[in-house]
Amino acid sequence: MLSIFRKSPLGDRALRQFPGAGTFAHGVHPPQRKEMSADAPIEIVPTPGKVILPLQQHIGGPCTPLVKARQKVTFGEMVGKGEVHVSASLHAPVAGIVQKEAMATLANGRHMPAIVIKADGEQLAGQELWDKLYGGLWPQKSYQTLAPEKISAEIHNAGIVGLGGAAFPTHVKITPSEQKPIQALIVNGCECEPYLTTDYRLMVEAPEAIVAGARLAARAVGAKKAYIGIENNKLEAAAALRRAAAGAGVRIAVLKTKYPQGSEKHLIKAVLNREVPLGGLPSDIGVAMTNVATVTSVARRVMRGIPLTHRVVSVTGGGIVEPKNLLVPIGIPMGRLIEYCGGLKKTAARIIAGGPMMGFAFTNPDIPVTKGTSGITVLDHEEIRKVEQSVCVRCGQCVDVCPMNLVPTRLAMASRCKDLNLARKYNIMACFECGCCAYSCPAGLPLVQNIRTGKALLAAEGRN
Ligand code: SF4
Ligand code: SF4
Repeated sequence: MLSIFRKSPLGDRALRQFPGAGTFAHGVHPPQRKEMSADAPIEIVPTPGKVILPLQQHIGGPCTPLVKARQKVTFGEMVGKGEVHVSASLHAPVAGIVQKEAMATLANGRHMPAIVIKADGEQLAGQELWDKLYGGLWPQKSYQTLAPEKISAEIHNAGIVGLGGAAFPTHVKITPSEQKPIQALIVNGCECEPYLTTDYRLMVEAPEAIVAGARLAARAVGAKKAYIGIENNKLEAAAALRRAAAGAGVRIAVLKTKYPQGSEKHLIKAVLNREVPLGGLPSDIGVAMTNVATVTSVARRVMRGIPLTHRVVSVTGGGIVEPKNLLVPIGIPMGRLIEYCGGLKKTAARIIAGGPMMGFAFTNPDIPVTKGTSGITVLDHEEIRKVEQSVCVRCGQCVDVCPMNLVPTRLAMASRCKDLNLARKYNIMACFECGCCAYSCPAGLPLVQNIRTGKALLAAEGRN
């Protein structure tokens, strides 16, 4: 077992290399349970028989299909175009033949038209695939004069979105702006969700690609300073990045381990000691934020011309036979990854797309991996928190832990009563559904589900 969970003087020394205090107020300390998959090197999953590509797997508008049934496509070919600014194009992760358009179900229960590609012909696979996407050398010299607009346009063309889970189109954030000049770029390597080790393995196994991508992203936004933020339960990753970043002008900020350290507002506070105003964006205070996996996609596109076709996914938890970290094509059915990891144990009780704090429980094995899928967590009966649901006892714990300084119990009540004016008054849209309140509630109240419903009702009324 790697010693990624022990604290070490490296963390304390690193804390002095950036202006923030290395942490934020409130939040929670759920059991990490990352040891199940932390030592499992990334394995390359064989090419599946088909991939299912929902037309909207990102925040923003859906993309328009560019292909028809029975059409042949090659690896990396654009098959769907994101035509509005906040959207992302889709590219074929396998060579193959387009099937007739189908409906796909997403992990959050939404149904969506999808392009289905049956794999056919020679495929980029195995070690060759790894080498193209993450391996080899990432020489920076010839890219140091690249125009920022060119980098941003390449990010747009490559369909890159935030791979940490948010799936927000990256070109919208990583773009030069005269109105809101950016001074600092922060690359998020916190991976604060319990269980997941996707970003951790990438930082250990592909640190050069991360540093190359961070430099390109910093150049694109005109940031003079670039930081990679990592929690101090991932010291091996911090050491690998520090070696890769030597002389590259990218600082490694080792932060205290606390959930949700990877939330952008809290990461900015921890690294830069700056606060994003309520309802504002990081760009309002001159900061751009992206994720370690996302910047590898930036480097790959700009330096190797390859769009976003694959991602790394952790399949982990006490209910899976053999937890692993897997390099997979976007669109592979999640059930296939569970099978690849030996299947479910008899004790498996809940399957979650993502981690246990912010993920969505699902049962349908045909749900495809999308660009935002960072993991599949299978919890067994022992791992599920068993609290009998009762009434609010006004203990105030949800308020104490909320990292946004909200009053979750009131938000949930306003949502349950469909009192949308009250929900807005309590700043419901500032809730980013981190789950700290529900995790801490001794009454077992479904606070996040209630708040999600309130936000959905506001969105439906166009009042968000
Ligand atoms: S109210 Fe929202 S932001 Fe606050 S703890 Fe609950 S889920 Fe997190
Ligand atoms: S933590 Fe639960 S019981 Fe305590 S005040 Fe909040 S909603 Fe009520």
